[in-house]
Amino acid sequence: MCDPQLGFGGYEHDIRTFRQATQQINALHPDFVVICGDLVNGSSRKSYSDFKALLHDLNPRCFCAPGNHDVHNAPTPASLAFYRKEMGPDYYSFEQDDSTFIVLDTQLWKSPVPGETERQEGWFRNTLSKAHRAGRRIFLIQHVPFFVKSADEPDNYYNLPEEKRLELLRLCEENGVVAILAGHTHKTIINDYHGILMVTGELTSRNFDHRPLGFRVWHIGAQRPFQSEVVPLNVQ
Ligand SMILES: [Zn+2]
Repeated sequence: MCDPQLGFGGYEHDIRTFRQATQQINALHPDFVVICGDLVNGSSRKSYSDFKALLHDLNPRCFCAPGNHDVHNAPTPASLAFYRKEMGPDYYSFEQDDSTFIVLDTQLWKSPVPGETERQEGWFRNTLSKAHRAGRRIFLIQHVPFFVKSADEPDNYYNLPEEKRLELLRLCEENGVVAILAGHTHKTIINDYHGILMVTGELTSRNFDHRPLGFRVWHIGAQRPFQSEVVPLNVQ
């Protein structure tokens, strides 16, 4: 799932569509759910408490990445502390079968916070190389995609700064990352970067490409490319 962003498509609307998605997801019994950031449109105790109440009804375990609306376009020690207090860590990893999923706080690269950015990056490099050495399949879960159209595109609101982007992409290649799931674009965009599948996907608040609201179901088997399908919400 991407950008539930409570309040972006209308607060009540976004709560209703998230509930609808929850019903449909629960009926599918997936192993787990990831949400690629922008959990709320305006971060506050009320919006996070509403969002956590929604998560409560989701049966599978659920892993959230923070977006720019969660930790702010220019995060500060205070905005990071607030997110961590309300929602938990902004970067971490988890495991499923033979795969490692690395959840990242892309705002720390979009708008660096002295100390914090270096800490995440050190942790990321460590976690990547440990998973790679253990022969695990590695997925990244993040909010801002590395790029939208091509790896050498100019910096803009929808990608990561070019120098950092190229450095991180090289790191992903060296460590055998297989797929990167992101949000933020409010459009469905699918890229292949030297064999790394990159998808910014479906959402429940408001999108810019007029596709139905919904989510994407992934089938992570032995075969690549991994298969996925979009599941539109039954009630739009
Ligand atoms: Zn965003």
